[in-house]
Amino acid sequence: MVTIRRKLVPISLALTMTNGKNNLKKYIVVHETDNTNIGADADAHARLQINGNSRQVSWHWQVDDQEAVQSFEHFWECWSAGTYIGNHQGIQVEICVNSDGDYVKAVQNAATLIAKIIKDENIAIENIVQHHYFSGKNCPRNMRAGKVPWSQFIEMIKKASNTQNPPVETLKYRILTGTYNTFQAAESAAKVMKFTFGWLVYIEQDGPKYRIKTGTFTGMIAVKNAENKIKKAKLAQVTYIKDA
Ligand SMILES: [Zn+2]
Repeated sequence: MVTIRRKLVPISLALTMTNGKNNLKKYIVVHETDNTNIGADADAHARLQINGNSRQVSWHWQVDDQEAVQSFEHFWECWSAGTYIGNHQGIQVEICVNSDGDYVKAVQNAATLIAKIIKDENIAIENIVQHHYFSGKNCPRNMRAGKVPWSQFIEMIKKASNTQNPPVETLKYRILTGTYNTFQAAESAAKVMKFTFGWLVYIEQDGPKYRIKTGTFTGMIAVKNAENKIKKAKLAQVTYIKDA
């Protein structure tokens, strides 16, 4: 069981840490952080990225023995694989190897996460590859050394794909709309969300304009579904998902 959450690098920063937004999402590229420091877990690596990693590297996910944290939406072309194709077509997953973590558990969590991503993004299991596949780098190092053999890792992913045990999403999110020019405009959209969708909603003033803030949704799937509802009903031109 692994919990997943998002700690996304803001777009303005992401533009300086990637090759843009046209990732073809054809591969999952598996890495290890190579950072054995105590505390060098998923949250630490996510923080490193959100603070604008000083090294010219970036990656979508980091996983440790407790959780998986997403730093970039999959459409970003992160800098990890060491080749243009690897970065342009790959979703990059870093497995943490902090010495105070349980490596085998982190690998299992990565398998569960990857099973979810390949389902969400419709990626073939054959296209789960090592960083080594693109650039020849010895990464993921422990796995390549047989600590958990690659073939076993692929089996873990297959098994996770077949179980009814998807990652547990415990985090709560809200949706914030873009602004409406008048209170009446915000109110009429809010009414649909309240009475048709049955949600809690709040209208907030933002300078001379207004926004709608929803109550909380548990998990990214639920909040994405809610966001789609707003879009389908054309209740807001822009929406933002925020951690609650
Ligand atoms: Zn790597």
